[in-house]
Amino acid sequence: MKKIETKPLSEVKDGALFLVDLETVPYHMRNDYYKRNLVVESGKPLCDFCDGTGNEFYSMYRKCPVCGGDGIKREIEKVADEQNK
Ligand SMILES: [Zn+2]
Repeated sequence: MKKIETKPLSEVKDGALFLVDLETVPYHMRNDYYKRNLVVESGKPLCDFCDGTGNEFYSMYRKCPVCGGDGIKREIEKVADEQNK
C-alpha cells in the first residue's frame, strides 16, 4: 500500500490527497477531517462538495447532501482514470 503524506491543515487544499494532521485542525472540526482522512486512505474519490468531510459547511454538523455524509464522491459515471488506488 502506498504511504500517504500527512500535512498540516493549512497545506491541504480541496481535493488534495493528503492526510490531514489532526493536531493542526481546530478541535470542533477534527471529526470532519478524521473522516476525510479515512476517505483518502481508502483511495476513494473525495466528494467535491464537502471535500471528503461529509459535512456540508464543515463544523456545522450538517450532513453533506451530495454524498450523504460519507465524504465519498458518488460515482455518476464510470471513473475514467484509476490513478487513485
Ligand atoms: Zn459530500
